[in-house]
Amino acid sequence: MKSQRTRSQEKIFHLLKSLNRAISAQELYAELYQRQEYLGLATVYRALDALKLEGSVQVRTLSSGESLYSLIQQDQHHLTCIHCGQSIAFTECPVHDLEDKLEQSHGFKVYFHTLEFFGLCDRCQPDESNSTPKMENE
Ligand SMILES: [Zn+2]
Ligand SMILES: [Zn+2]
Repeated sequence: MKSQRTRSQEKIFHLLKSLNRAISAQELYAELYQRQEYLGLATVYRALDALKLEGSVQVRTLSSGESLYSLIQQDQHHLTCIHCGQSIAFTECPVHDLEDKLEQSHGFKVYFHTLEFFGLCDRCQPDESNSTPKMENE
């Protein structure tokens, strides 16, 4: 059962839908401003919170502490470097079949999933050719 949305929640919901990408609250605020929708930043945050609780919006927090908001219908897949914090999104879904199987075996309606792999990006990996092997007995 959905509670009534406020007008600002509706505006933000439709903007997220038309943008079709993850966006920070600050960016959303700027986008709204460009469209002559002068909502305060606090209102934007409140509306995003309400949409999140309603199950319409998902939040992903980057290692920089920035939160990105998007509508829940998109699956998210990322490779995240634990060293520099960069996040690489990829679109191919390795678990689509699993999702179908889970829906059938558990009678569960899956709305979305997130998949995040952690490790080192190519720039942060130690250069194998340069590393000198340590001597065990010296
Ligand atoms: Zn890195
Ligand atoms: Zn997927």
